[in-house]
Amino acid sequence: MNRDATARDGTAHVAPRETLCKSALNTTGIPGYDYCMNPYTGCTHACLYCYASFMCRFTDHSEPWGEFLDVKTNFPEVLAKQLGGRRKHPEGRVLIGTVTDAYQPAEARFRLTAASLELLAEYQLLDVNILTKSDLVRRDAGILRRLPKCEVGFTITTMDRSVSDVLEPGATPPENRLAAAAELLGSGVSVWVFIAPLLPGLTDTEASLAALYRSLRGTGIRDIRIDRLNPYPGVVRRLKDVYRRCFPKAAADLEACLRDRESYRRDVADRLRRIGA
Ligand code: SF4
Repeated sequence: MNRDATARDGTAHVAPRETLCKSALNTTGIPGYDYCMNPYTGCTHACLYCYASFMCRFTDHSEPWGEFLDVKTNFPEVLAKQLGGRRKHPEGRVLIGTVTDAYQPAEARFRLTAASLELLAEYQLLDVNILTKSDLVRRDAGILRRLPKCEVGFTITTMDRSVSDVLEPGATPPENRLAAAAELLGSGVSVWVFIAPLLPGLTDTEASLAALYRSLRGTGIRDIRIDRLNPYPGVVRRLKDVYRRCFPKAAADLEACLRDRESYRRDVADRLRRIGA
């Protein structure tokens, strides 16, 4: 697999499998959005806290999440039919990358996201929102600026490489994500940063949040959104394992967060207040 220059090599061994899809633009129940688009099944960013890992159930892969990738090679053709079909044209907001990262390293080679964005720019029907952990999105800045309305959200959980390298082994390093966010913002694209999920004892500490907010504000990013950890059973299982192996000192913080969600919510709110977030 070709990997972009800045991606880490945690999942470089994953061989993409080419598949066909029946639908590219699907309705979604995600609040604030009408449609979602996912040109790939699976995600080689392999984040250990990934909520999309339930997608394993809908594939015939036996590999764990992050270790397989299906490439929907006919995605742009199917999308073109859906946008230009004779039935009612879609309208509203589409979110690209709800159960995959549309700019994971394979996109450098397959360009399914780029081709889909070209179509969205041609038809001018939908507001486009992209959520990514990759700096590859910079490649498509010219297309993004031709869309009727476009926002790019970069998920950045921490600036601490010792945490990010373990939890997001295949994603672009956080400092490169930040640089990409700043570059897109400077070129006229709307950019926001998603600090999510907060990881107890690792990325939710006052020091970690203060460092992240400092970096974000230093690059001119003002639209910062934040979300706490949703304790889906599979995610909790993976996190408990990685905390035990790599971050044993923070394990008690994870347990405390899982035990009493309301007091955790208050603690985080206090910390955010103290750093002026
Ligand atoms: S980038 Fe997103 S979809 Fe991909 S593994 Fe990480 S959290 Fe999951």
